[in-house]
Amino acid sequence: MEKEAYFYDGKPMIIRKNISLKPFNTFGLDYKAATLICTTTERDAKQLFRSEAGLNQPLLILGGGSNILFTEDFRGTILSPCFLNIRVDKLEKEHVIVSAGAGVEWDSFVEWCVAMGFSGIENLSGIPGSVGAVPVQNIGAYGVEAKETIVKVRCISIPEGRVKLFSNKECGFGYRTSIFKTTLKGQYIITRVYFRLGLKFIPRLGYGSLKQEAEGSGKPTLKRVRNAVLKIRNSKLPDPEVTGNAGSFFKNPVVSGSFADILKKDYPGLPLYEDTSGGIKVAAGWLIEQCGWKGKRIGDAGVHSHQALVLVNHGRASGMEIYKLSEKIRESVKKKFGINLEREVEVTGII
Ligand SMILES: Cc1cc2nc3c(=O)[nH]c(=O)nc-3n(C[C@H](O)[C@H](O)[C@H](O)COP(=O)(O)OP(=O)(O)OC[C@H]3O[C@@H](n4cnc5c(N)ncnc54)[C@H](O)[C@@H]3O)c2cc1C
Repeated sequence: MEKEAYFYDGKPMIIRKNISLKPFNTFGLDYKAATLICTTTERDAKQLFRSEAGLNQPLLILGGGSNILFTEDFRGTILSPCFLNIRVDKLEKEHVIVSAGAGVEWDSFVEWCVAMGFSGIENLSGIPGSVGAVPVQNIGAYGVEAKETIVKVRCISIPEGRVKLFSNKECGFGYRTSIFKTTLKGQYIITRVYFRLGLKFIPRLGYGSLKQEAEGSGKPTLKRVRNAVLKIRNSKLPDPEVTGNAGSFFKNPVVSGSFADILKKDYPGLPLYEDTSGGIKVAAGWLIEQCGWKGKRIGDAGVHSHQALVLVNHGRASGMEIYKLSEKIRESVKKKFGINLEREVEVTGII
């Protein structure tokens, strides 16, 4: 492996050539990237875009690689934002504005906020990945979405290298989506995300077994809610360090009320939830399970035995094998229920 370190702005910017992506994706796939660059300052990133030094195309911005499926070697440049600090920007009467660099590990940030007594993101404990990716797909879990606390997102435009701040409204957040995943995809690198968190703790325990778990050891505190979320997640989801995966592979589809009524008549056990869009959210995991996929595998590409929404790499699956399995699942759900499953995970490469 060829490794070089350039110095921009007095700080090292690591540039690696022909590097294995195995440590950079949670499916544990061993593809190679032609170039991988870690930038530690915004100034580096700006100069890099403007000078185009080492930027062979295509360009991919990669955080923790926990929402990506590579299906082949990456021939272009992978840019990994390593902006690492967390700070308190403003104290308000009942809230605080805190911000974190895109390269900060999301769960370390949540842990820090909980330790500081700042509330609002504790239900999002344990989600792998970086702060920079949080607005991209508006991460969510246990009845909370990141969009509820994000105030603004600081970005640099590609290739001009200009700083732009997006307000919460401008981010176009939706269920597991935002403007950064749709119309502006690939046009900005997120460098810092600002959150408005509470100084007073109001627990949000309406989801599944969270209330029971959090209240098990007394009055729910921030720390207890975080621990309860971590405990539930650990019991349900495979650890990527042990079994490669990227969490939920598909989004829960949202259907019209009238279609949901028809489904419910035919399948009384189908879990349905009201969606903020006015439609009805259908549990994709249940649909996949009903098609007989739970715990199944084709070679080393498989469906998790506890949660059918999670596709796993049992060891030596290729990205293409995982992708092909996902397509088979989509086809059978379409055939049985007439519902099109949409991927939550981004596929990079030939498909
Ligand atoms: C075990 C497990 C459990 C999970 N549970 C959940 C869950 O409960 N809820 C949930 O919402 N998600 C969940 N996920 C999915 C994943 O953790 C999140 O989507 C996470 O935010 C991805 O972060 P990342 O840094 O790994 O992003 P990556 O996979 O590196 O990138 C994802 C996308 O964001 C873009 N991107 C990343 N950083 C930047 C940046 N700085 N600027 C611009 N674009 C950028 C990438 O180009 C790519 O398009 C889970 C994943 C796993 C493996």
